[in-house]
Amino acid sequence: MSASVAPRLPSIDGLLRHPACLPLADRYGRESLLASLRQLLDELRSSVLNGQLSAVEISPDVLAGRVGERLAQQQRSHVRRVFNLTGTVLHTNLGRALLPDEAIDAVQMAARYPLNLEFDLASGKRGDRDDLIEGLIRELTGAEAVTVVNNNAAAVLLTLNSLGARKEGIISRGELIEIGGAFRIPDIMARAGVRLHEVGTTNRTHARDYEAAISPRSGLIMRVHASNYSIEGFTARVPTAELAELAHRHGLPLLEDLGSGSLLDLTRWGLPAEPTVRQALLDGADIVTFSGDKLLGGPQAGLIVGRKELIAKIKKNPLKRALRVDKLTLAALEAVLGLYRDPDRLAERLPSLRLLTRPQADIFAQAERLQPALAQVIGQPWTVSAVKALGMIGSGSQPVARLPSAALCLRPQVSKRLRGRCLLNLEAALRGLPIPVLGRIDDDALWLDLRQLDDEPAWLAQLPQLQVES
Ligand SMILES: *Cc1c(COP(=O)(O)O)cnc(C)c1O
Repeated sequence: MSASVAPRLPSIDGLLRHPACLPLADRYGRESLLASLRQLLDELRSSVLNGQLSAVEISPDVLAGRVGERLAQQQRSHVRRVFNLTGTVLHTNLGRALLPDEAIDAVQMAARYPLNLEFDLASGKRGDRDDLIEGLIRELTGAEAVTVVNNNAAAVLLTLNSLGARKEGIISRGELIEIGGAFRIPDIMARAGVRLHEVGTTNRTHARDYEAAISPRSGLIMRVHASNYSIEGFTARVPTAELAELAHRHGLPLLEDLGSGSLLDLTRWGLPAEPTVRQALLDGADIVTFSGDKLLGGPQAGLIVGRKELIAKIKKNPLKRALRVDKLTLAALEAVLGLYRDPDRLAERLPSLRLLTRPQADIFAQAERLQPALAQVIGQPWTVSAVKALGMIGSGSQPVARLPSAALCLRPQVSKRLRGRCLLNLEAALRGLPIPVLGRIDDDALWLDLRQLDDEPAWLAQLPQLQVES
């Protein structure tokens, strides 16, 4: 009768029975649908009372559509694949190393079936999970014994606590580093119960500095690979072999945190030299710690290798139980280590090494091939060019070394004042794609380093959906 009466919200029961909602109940379950409908109606109630919404806006079909979008959004996984075109290969925020097929198969098996995680199939007795990979690691590093924990930060914490609690840990001031993500050597030492005794200076530390620090309170000498920064110029550092000799003369263990810790000499593939685990042990380090998902190219893990009696002590520490790795990690790690037994084929089979060694000419050809498609989709005011670029290994390996690479370089042809906003809008649009594309902004341009663009078809297929706000 009266045209001025505000339309009324449909009832929940009515909506649940409405044909537009039935498929949603099938797909997401009645409970989820009900909760979403309730939430939406609650949000709309006051606008409806104020007459701000039309009858169409609150029709069952429109409401079902809105609820359907919400449910789809909620169901979407929060863990999402992305394209890492940042130029940093082992990107900590993007999951570091990619696993080889052999490791993915092993993870599947370990996830799907019971396994001999801590069970010795030969004797039928209880086993130790470290035994599953000990043989391989000994073979690949020359270490006497091995234990594995959740990551290298845990490896350092556990080693320090096991070997140096309530004693002093002697370390050069040049090695008191912060790795990022709040991992700082002085803090970890404190938490491990080791009293920090720093020696030398930031740029120069001599054998006599270590020598003068040694007292009955000393528990260990520590060396940390300065992964993520480099000290150049007037510097001095005691070689590991000399430091080990000094430590042993005083009955102290030498602990070396290698960070990346490569198992093989990377110069063989034309990459910058990184200290190898085997060499650190040969030089006399008693315990060496390193990551599983940096240059090793495996799952996140922390490997502790070295002298048998020290490893035994570390394994007895109750903290070991709190820091141990799970079955999926061990399965992946064993598969990755297995690939190292055939170094000739490693660069084909291990994704991180394959990506790190991709020739620049290859990447540049790919950039030239993709340039027209991107230029066409993105249109004005952008210029898109295929250019040579410099990437990096990442994860603190070789901070100053650059990997010769190639990129698609996107430059906005607008006034300097508008450039920053333009670039941020493009960056956001690329991030908004179904498989988000992550590049880097530098020098008034957005760079998509193609070293890691393996899946070209998937990348191209989603390009037409790119919508850049201007
Ligand atoms: C990366 C790094 C760590 C930490 O290793 P995670 O595996 O990330 O926990 C510790 N020490 C050094 C020297 C590193 O480079």
